[in-house]
Amino acid sequence: MNARILFAALAAVAGATPLAAQTFPTDNPTIRRIWEIGQQQSQVYPLMQVLLDSIGPRLTATPEHKAGNQWLVRKYSEWGIPASEANYGTWKGWRRGFTHVDLVQPRTRSLEGMILAWSPGTANGRPVTGQAVILPDVADSAEFVRWLPSVRGKFVLVDMAQPTCRPDDNWEQWATDSSFEKMKAQRDTARRAWADRIRRTGYNISLGTGTLGRRLEQAGAAGVIQSRWSGGWGVNRIFDSKNLQNTPSIDLSCEDYGMVFRLAQNNQGPVLRVAAEAQFTGETPVGNVIAEIRGSEKPNEYVVLSSHFDSWDGAQGATDNGTGTIVMLEAMRILRQVYPNPKRTIISGHWAGEEQGLIGSRAFAADRPEVVNGLQALFNQDNGTGRIVNISASGLPRASGNLAVWLSQVPDQLTRFFQSVGLPGIPGGGGSDYASFLCHGAPAFNLGALSYDYGTYTWHTNRDTFDKINFDDVRANAILTAMLVYLASEDPTTVPRDRRVVTTPGGTPGQWPACQPAIRRSSEWTR
Ligand SMILES: [Zn+2]
Repeated sequence: MNARILFAALAAVAGATPLAAQTFPTDNPTIRRIWEIGQQQSQVYPLMQVLLDSIGPRLTATPEHKAGNQWLVRKYSEWGIPASEANYGTWKGWRRGFTHVDLVQPRTRSLEGMILAWSPGTANGRPVTGQAVILPDVADSAEFVRWLPSVRGKFVLVDMAQPTCRPDDNWEQWATDSSFEKMKAQRDTARRAWADRIRRTGYNISLGTGTLGRRLEQAGAAGVIQSRWSGGWGVNRIFDSKNLQNTPSIDLSCEDYGMVFRLAQNNQGPVLRVAAEAQFTGETPVGNVIAEIRGSEKPNEYVVLSSHFDSWDGAQGATDNGTGTIVMLEAMRILRQVYPNPKRTIISGHWAGEEQGLIGSRAFAADRPEVVNGLQALFNQDNGTGRIVNISASGLPRASGNLAVWLSQVPDQLTRFFQSVGLPGIPGGGGSDYASFLCHGAPAFNLGALSYDYGTYTWHTNRDTFDKINFDDVRANAILTAMLVYLASEDPTTVPRDRRVVTTPGGTPGQWPACQPAIRRSSEWTR
């Protein structure tokens, strides 16, 4: 639907000025100053550069995460905004060092690979040399167990090798139809066969290296090698190795994994040398960074800027969620200048542990019930660099009216690209931190951005890097967010919490998403 038409309809519903009457520059001086500061004195680029290049990725409870939290607190205090790290528990501390993976037989070549998050390294980071072997195609678990002793000192390839690391859209463009169809059919067959091969061992490779990785470790494997191709050029997803204690689990790029796999398959004797440093540092205190500008009229009502600060660490955590982080940080910087005495209390929450299951935000909701109870609105952003184009009322029908009034006061430059304003929307049960508040029935809204191939190229991948960011879009998002926060804070009405009727996809009565208990230490992580 055309956003302009929708807004006019929304505004009519809410009894606000129709959007047609709105032009920019606006006659609201605060909105005008937010625009000017956000455009002309933007700090988005230098903030992002320090965060992504100098601090780096922010896997929960790593030294980078801690350094990042300290940097956030420092930035806020430079701007005169009270902020601190609010500890909520502990998490498995870990420090990533280097990973070097080389093919040393039948020829020499350095490979693109890295250990997974929370993987052990090699002993003292020293190189380990061993043959690369493919997980065998056994008849059953008994045969697998008989094979296991042969694995000692070897690197075991546990994923299927992709027949091609060329993305499907490229095949579609260049290959004949029959060739493309043939490749897809072969790949589907190979996928099914590989899933059967894993199943017949009696173990699994779910959640990183699964029970299979643990069994290979017990049998003395030198390492577990996987490759989780995302479907794009040069892109792998890098998650974690949850249950290995002294055997490195390594992701190799789609191309390099395929090469080692073919060498092994054709008895050409691939030998790898792996050196990887990693250090477990024990249960480590973790916290969210909370910045707070106290409300002058209604201090017990809250407008919250929400973004998770932690990331996976295959790259820089640029679009997940450096962009959301900087949007909120910049919005707070602007608000401090143009709106230093807000009507309601404004909080910016930079959550930890989102990637392990919204852990930081859930803990905050549990620790600060007054914020949940007094929440006027929460705005969360967590899907990359694109312009915000989708906002949903999250299943709170009467909140739609407030959203409409706020959006009707935002300049058209920021809303003309909107694809939807979901009315009344459905309550999201997960996916990002807004869910930790919405499950309590509090008005928590997700700011949905254009994809920029987020799912294929940057989400949890080794290519989630600085260069993927569109700074014009991030600047616009910070300005939009600052305006929404200001308008929500000034709103003479309190956002109503009436809930929509919830139905299942099958049409039977459904439930409002339930709140999950807050997890306080990594041993409670059952995922
Ligand atoms: Zn995220």
